[in-house]
Amino acid sequence: MPSFSKHPQEIVAQLRNTFNSGKTKPLEFRISQLKALKRMIEENVDEIAKCLYADLHKSRFEAVIMEKDFTKNEINHCLSHIREWTKREMPEKTMANMLDSVYIVHDPYGVVLVMGAWNYPLQLTLSPLIGAIAAGNCVVIKPSEISPATSKFIAEYVPKYLDSEAFTVYEGGIPETTELLKQRFDYIFYTGSTGVGRIIQEAASKHLTPVTLELGGKSPVFIDSTVDVEKTARRVMWGKCANAGQTCVAPDYVLCTRDTADKFVSAANKAIKEFFGEDPKQSGDFGRIINDRHFARIVALMKGCEIAVGGQIDSTERYIAPTILVDVKPTDPVMQEEIFGPLLPIVYVENAYDAMAFINEREKPLAMYIFSNDSHLVDTFLSTTSAGGVTVNDVVMHLTVPSLPFGGVGQSGMGYYHGKNSYDTFTHKKSVLHKDLWILGEKLGSARYPPSSTGKMKY
Ligand code: NAD
Repeated sequence: MPSFSKHPQEIVAQLRNTFNSGKTKPLEFRISQLKALKRMIEENVDEIAKCLYADLHKSRFEAVIMEKDFTKNEINHCLSHIREWTKREMPEKTMANMLDSVYIVHDPYGVVLVMGAWNYPLQLTLSPLIGAIAAGNCVVIKPSEISPATSKFIAEYVPKYLDSEAFTVYEGGIPETTELLKQRFDYIFYTGSTGVGRIIQEAASKHLTPVTLELGGKSPVFIDSTVDVEKTARRVMWGKCANAGQTCVAPDYVLCTRDTADKFVSAANKAIKEFFGEDPKQSGDFGRIINDRHFARIVALMKGCEIAVGGQIDSTERYIAPTILVDVKPTDPVMQEEIFGPLLPIVYVENAYDAMAFINEREKPLAMYIFSNDSHLVDTFLSTTSAGGVTVNDVVMHLTVPSLPFGGVGQSGMGYYHGKNSYDTFTHKKSVLHKDLWILGEKLGSARYPPSSTGKMKY
């Protein structure tokens, strides 16, 4: 049920009034709201951890480092750079403009919609919000109803900390979202599946509203024979098992030779035991699948596969053990869609070039991971394949670097954020050419005036 009794039309109208009043534009207002958002997550860590456990069985450790700290770091980064980011840009001038002023003014878009996802329901809702606030916008914040406890937390706490005239949380499911999307926004930032991304873009196109779509895809891992398999396995299994595999940039599948796979499986099995003990179901550090629909979907993907590690399930808890599938064929169901769960299929390839061809035959992934000590090979991968982002010799970590733009390409999304890119996402760059009306400028500029018959044209 939506927490807000107002109709979306009324909400957007009220936010537009606030925006038009200029309230959100002063830098001091933006800074005060960012500081308030930071206080909101710092002062309520216990409540946040409780909600994330209720929604996803997320451990306090994961809740703190991957949701609260990540968001806090983004706010800190923004606060320490916002004065410099918001300054007028003074781009290069040409000879023709030597007497003029040429500059770029940053305009907030206006009233924007931020739609979060359920898998990192705090971080993925609040991180884009940071950019929207920093740029001076009013925002409708739509948390995912699929993680109801965190959605309720956001709906309850945002009004306590942020200015309610400028920021409104709107909760709800498909009918509420459908109604929301009929409104005219000045920007829409959506995180979620590619399928729903299409619905968002279609709705946005009716009003010619620009969008950022942070979507998903199958993120491949290539492992060559030169690497330390133990370290590789720890890193890959950490990325696969975090949030029980429900991470948009989780390693989806592995490409390597049969020989490397044998070594990897044994090292990965060891890593799983190190992280979660003999029975991951008993570990407080291993999550559960968000709902029955996703649980049934992931379990079905295992059917017919050769299970080398794991495979245990418990539907009452929506538990799926960390599972490694070997000798997986490209035509197997598990290779047809993003897994978004703790299954790791391994597809055998002959060499790195086969791996590159395999990746290029499929949709462009959100992330790609290359494990290799051969820098020439890494460069060849980078120049031959396309992906939203890449980490070499690790997984997921590229998204923790605030100076790196985070986003997909092709079916894995459009647009990017994090750090200054979040501020830029919600900012229109208004070009200004400022001339004077002095006599010299008029003389120099008069060549453009008709009539053309006075020998003004060179050819
Ligand atoms: P989803 O994308 O289907 O999201 C469901 C949301 O969309 C719900 O809030 C629902 O109300 C809304 N929705 C569904 N149908 C709708 C309709 N017809 N009209 C309007 N709204 C509608 O959720 P999912 O598939 O469970 O999410 C997982 C996907 O999200 C994965 O592909 C994952 O990779 C992706 N993801 C991407 C990122 C990223 O940063 N790129 C982050 C998290 C998740």
